[in-house]
Amino acid sequence: MTHDMPRRQFLRQVGCQALGGALVSNILAGERLCEAANEPASVILATGEKQPEKGDMKMAYTLPELPYGYNALEPYIDEQTVRIHHDKHHGTYVTKLNDALKGHEDLATRDIADLMPKLASLPADIRTAVRNNGAQHYNHSLYWQCMAPPAQAGGEPVGELALAIRSTFGDFAKFKEQLTKTAVACFGSGWGWLYLNKEGKLAICATSNEGNPLMAGLVENVGKPILVVDVWEHAYYIKYQNRRPDYAEAWWNLVNWKAAAERFAKAKT
Ligand code: MN
Repeated sequence: MTHDMPRRQFLRQVGCQALGGALVSNILAGERLCEAANEPASVILATGEKQPEKGDMKMAYTLPELPYGYNALEPYIDEQTVRIHHDKHHGTYVTKLNDALKGHEDLATRDIADLMPKLASLPADIRTAVRNNGAQHYNHSLYWQCMAPPAQAGGEPVGELALAIRSTFGDFAKFKEQLTKTAVACFGSGWGWLYLNKEGKLAICATSNEGNPLMAGLVENVGKPILVVDVWEHAYYIKYQNRRPDYAEAWWNLVNWKAAAERFAKAKT
């Protein structure tokens, strides 16, 4: 990055950044939009622009912006928690993931979800760091998308997802109770999931630490995530302290069923 203009302005002008000469990512969009542009960064840069410094060119994954404001989840999740959770916790996972991938940029994927099935077979020297931080990056990115401001969230799903929930769990209340119970009972830090299992059926599970259903070979319950609730203490301890059950109950008011239904439809194909 050049030092004579704000970072965002610089990124907007550059559009894409080279990664290890092989991959290029769009930082502003929060995801990789263009890949494997073989031109060096100097070609992408407008004439007369300084080239980005080498350290910046290695940035692969980026912290996605929240799809809502920091205070948009009030009163169920407070602004300070969202701010620290997103900017600091999630941000640090992204930084550490990129650090761990230094020298292994070829292993990075366009979409963080695509890295998950590869975690079991990474080189031993980077396996743990990429697994921990990569999975946490994926889980958090999904977690933010699973929520919306209360006015646009909560209640019950409609359509195909509602039918599938009813046919698998009996009714919505039973489903809600089972996912809440599973998430709350997760020993230590972890995540509660609704996912589509390998038989194409909805299922509920909890994973410890960084686990998620996409990590084939590393987790017991494999499938495609539909909904996730973060039950690491950092997700709730400012407002709820030790009261994980209260947080889990409040979380239902924030569930973005529209986004969940879209994930469900995609997972079924
Ligand atoms: Mn978290």
